[in-house]
Amino acid sequence: MLLGVGNPLSGRIFQHDGLLGETRTTAFPRDPDCPVCSPRARIRDLARYEEQVSPRGHVLV
Ligand SMILES: [Zn+2]
Repeated sequence: MLLGVGNPLSGRIFQHDGLLGETRTTAFPRDPDCPVCSPRARIRDLARYEEQVSPRGHVLV
């Protein structure tokens, strides 16, 4: 991303298993109810993230 080359991992998870020396990329669909990045996002200001999300990751707003 910084150099303008390659492909970002948007919509994919990159996994590396150092013990086996294997890597893989798995695609996953966007969560239509995601509180951060869905069209109906409830969290738009990360400056208030700690007020809006519990320490366990539960959305409070
Ligand atoms: Zn999201």
